[in-house]
Parts: sequence; structure tokens; C-alpha cells
Amino acid sequence: MERYKLPGFELILQPNVLRIMESFIQDDNKKHESGGILLGQIKDGKIYVQKASTPCKFDRSGRYYFHRDKDAAQIIIDFEFANSGGSVIYLGEWHTHPEAVPTPSSQDRRMIKGQYNNGTLNVPFVLMIIQGTSDRFVSSFDGDSISLGKLI
Ligand SMILES: [Zn+2]
Repeated sequence: MERYKLPGFELILQPNVLRIMESFIQDDNKKHESGGILLGQIKDGKIYVQKASTPCKFDRSGRYYFHRDKDAAQIIIDFEFANSGGSVIYLGEWHTHPEAVPTPSSQDRRMIKGQYNNGTLNVPFVLMIIQGTSDRFVSSFDGDSISLGKLI
């Protein structure tokens, strides 16, 4: 488990979520970027990321890009929401980068703004996590700027 301080809330990444992201680390020069969506719950003002989806055959990826399929992700979001009685919600996006200390690309910035602006969020932010080969970039986007989480 990892805990991060972000503007206005504390973020908890559960062990299975960390394991999934780490299992897709681009640790050889053939591995494509991978990614998926982040789902979880809000409890006592804290955000718990409990699930991370894994790439599916409808996603498109290369060494330096990952585009997840919208419809496949929506099926997961709807399933988890219904299955939890409405408590497990979409929280954001994760993907890998083939660099040690990852930073968002301009495409990543456009993507996260698009997710924020699509009008279906249950929380006033979207998470964006990028798993590098040694570090993890953990952030939230609030409509204005991307804030980097501080490990606590
Ligand atoms: Zn990226």
C-alpha cells in the first residue's frame, strides 16, 4: 500500500493496484506501453484506489503510446459500479512509460483534460498515474492543473 498527499485529499493505492502496474513495467526494449483505468471508493475523505484494469485486445499500443478502448473501459466501469451498489467509481487512468522517472507527455495532458471534461465524473478530479521503469508519477488533475502527489 502507498499513501499520497494530493490537494484536498489523501490517496491510497492498494497493493493489488501497485502489483498490476508493476507487472507491466517496460523493462525490456520490446515491451509496449500498457494501461487501464483506476477504480475505487471514497471513505472518510480518503480516496482508495482498489482496482486497476489491464490492457485488452481492443486497446492500441506501441513502445511510446497507449490508447485504451473507450467502450471496453465503460463496460468495466458500469460492471463495478453496479456490482458494488454504486460505491466503486471511476477515478482515473494509469499507463506505463519506458523511462525511469516518468513525466506526462503533451498527449497525456490532452487525454487527462479530455477525461475531466467528458462530464461523467463522480469526483472533482481525475487521477493520472504513470508507471516508469523505476519511479511512479502519481497525480491528480482538477480542471486547471496537474498536481503531483507526495508520498506520505
Ligand atoms: Zn504517457
